Amino acid sequence: MDKKTESLLNKFFRGDVMALSRLISLVENGDDSGSGIWGKIFPRVGRAYRIGVTGPPGVGKSTLIDKLVPLFRRGGQTVGVIAVDPTSPFSGGALLGDRVRMPDIGSDPGVFLRSMATRGSLGGLALAAKGVADVLDAFGKDIIIFETVGVGQAELDVAGAADTTLVVLVPESGDGIQAMKAGLMEIADGFVLNKADREGAEGVRLEIETVLKLRPKTDWELKIIPTVAIRNQGIDQTYSLIQEHRAYLHDNHRFEERRRKQRVARVKTMVEEKIKERFWTEDRKARLSEWTAGDVPIDQIIDRLLKT
Ligand code: GDP
Repeated sequence: MDKKTESLLNKFFRGDVMALSRLISLVENGDDSGSGIWGKIFPRVGRAYRIGVTGPPGVGKSTLIDKLVPLFRRGGQTVGVIAVDPTSPFSGGALLGDRVRMPDIGSDPGVFLRSMATRGSLGGLALAAKGVADVLDAFGKDIIIFETVGVGQAELDVAGAADTTLVVLVPESGDGIQAMKAGLMEIADGFVLNKADREGAEGVRLEIETVLKLRPKTDWELKIIPTVAIRNQGIDQTYSLIQEHRAYLHDNHRFEERRRKQRVARVKTMVEEKIKERFWTEDRKARLSEWTAGDVPIDQIIDRLLKT
């Protein structure tokens, strides 16, 4: 490890927020591999509790998180928030944007906010987001919140890295049920029906409750909590739901099982990424463009590439 990285890590482990920020940027930009930082970081990862807040854009995820975080802070816990938005062109430096989106927590030194936007591929974004969570975990944050726009596979993948995942819906999604079909049902440990001040909220709540009741019974009951995030309503209940789910995971030995599954998935993706990186040498890339420009059939190109 070079002297610069070593000094950065020393500062990081002494609790220097600037060093935390710089380390996160390294991970975000993909400059972390080969730097030796993971050998130091990984042994300190695993203590933080990870919460996913996912849902379509505009449902009030940021507002909800802004109101929810102070409840953790009141209990003396420190928090890291990672907002993953593949549709946003802003990344890393979008601090001002974050402070506007989450005014209540933006100036709290016990809260670290980071926005992440598309970097190369969506798969890369998901992987980087998990890396950033590990860095925050090793830094000593007690709670890590992933905010994701729960639509694509990469975002669902990030949500899958959480211990408790909340899916946020609004009455206007009207077809709340539609949202539940889109893979959100599988990852939800609880639903939040935000903007419950809007018309039709009660109807949508009942609709979702009916769907939840139709599911085969499991020992964790999926609930839906109506909230009005802008007015701080339903936030206590949302906080309690997270605590209940956390206790449930621990009491039923599900926590370790979940964490183990997350590690398996993580190792798999990291190995796959590395294999991909190694496979696409300049030489293979050149052959690929040469053969695809000619009339070599695709199946033969694949065979040949795998044999070279
Ligand atoms: P995000 O994209 O899911 O993070 O949504 P935001 O938190 O940025 O909220 C989108 C808009 O909805 C903002 O203008 C909020 O002020 C508004 N909003 C958030 N919560 C509520 C609520 O409970 N009721 C109403 N009526 N508006 C809300």
